[in-house]
Amino acid sequence: MKYSLRVATVAGIDINLHASFVLVLGLGAWPWLMWGARGALFGAGMSLLIFACIALHELGHSLVAKAFGIPVTDITLTPIGGVAILKDRPKTPTQELLIAIAGPAVNVVLAAIFWGTAVVLGHEAYDAAKLTLLREPPRAEHIWVLLIPANLALAAFNMLPALPMDGGRVLRATLSYVFAPEQATRIAAVVARVVAVGFIALYAFVPNTTPMLPFIAVVVFFGAGAEVREAKVNRVLSLIRAGDVVTPYAPRFEPGTTLGQAMQTLMVSPLPVFAVELGGRLVGVARREDLLQAAMTKGAWGFVSSVLVRDVPTVDPFDTLDDARSKMQRADVRAAAVMRGGVFLGLVTELELAQAMEVAERLKATQTRDSLGREVR
Ligand SMILES: [Zn+2]
Repeated sequence: MKYSLRVATVAGIDINLHASFVLVLGLGAWPWLMWGARGALFGAGMSLLIFACIALHELGHSLVAKAFGIPVTDITLTPIGGVAILKDRPKTPTQELLIAIAGPAVNVVLAAIFWGTAVVLGHEAYDAAKLTLLREPPRAEHIWVLLIPANLALAAFNMLPALPMDGGRVLRATLSYVFAPEQATRIAAVVARVVAVGFIALYAFVPNTTPMLPFIAVVVFFGAGAEVREAKVNRVLSLIRAGDVVTPYAPRFEPGTTLGQAMQTLMVSPLPVFAVELGGRLVGVARREDLLQAAMTKGAWGFVSSVLVRDVPTVDPFDTLDDARSKMQRADVRAAAVMRGGVFLGLVTELELAQAMEVAERLKATQTRDSLGREVR
């Protein structure tokens, strides 16, 4: 179930408005209501313009990510800001740095453009004193008066060094030139938590600060923790090879396997994705949830072929699980086929990743030397 509406598609990236976005129009109109319907319309229009700037900010991240070959699914705008969904993480500190900085850079450029047009049009829009404009009825000039500081504030706020915000990512990327990725993330997370506590203190001790501050503090505090866990997963998975987790004993289907037979297998196997073979050759995979759904609608005499997904990423047995996970995230199906010389050895699914994590975390030996014999940072 999706609670969002697509409003535009740019460079193959859908821009969606979350249903809760109607709040933004109301909140935007509210302070202008004293000027009647015209004021309310102006306020709602202004909040739309500011969110258009936020969409461009997210598009900045997305286009740089795409330039590095990272697929971007969509951008969703919610009342608390925008999110661009990247299907993979940046592969180098430089990639992360440039993707993170691209968003705030868009807002700086927008502020410069609005400032330039204000000068050309003869508005004294860049005069900060004009911010007292709420005492006047809305005029066209107010668009500039509001959009210039709004974009500068967006850039400055996002550049605060608080992971998972943009500035935190810039900090982590910069630290990654010196430290191992996990160590860099840990340091950046400590800084983020200090900033989060600072937000709370600011809200508690400085009058008239926005109630958004403690809310953002909570998001940053737990977001930083999630980044640390993610960095740890990436390190541990980079120590294990895909060949280490595939098993010839995993149940497999044929396209002609009936859904009834498949249901019997589902009762004894926890796998989220099953390989589908024909004559010893991999033809695709079948997802657990698709099989269950098909069994419900088609009954026991339907076939596995009706839910076959042919597009499966492949990995070599010597590739790391970290690489396999990257490919799984980019693909629509959360599985990778381990192939050697055209021979299908088995699937890597979320279950194999979770099992490998569980074991590797307990094996101190794999933390100092990986299975390929390289020293680990
Ligand atoms: Zn951003």
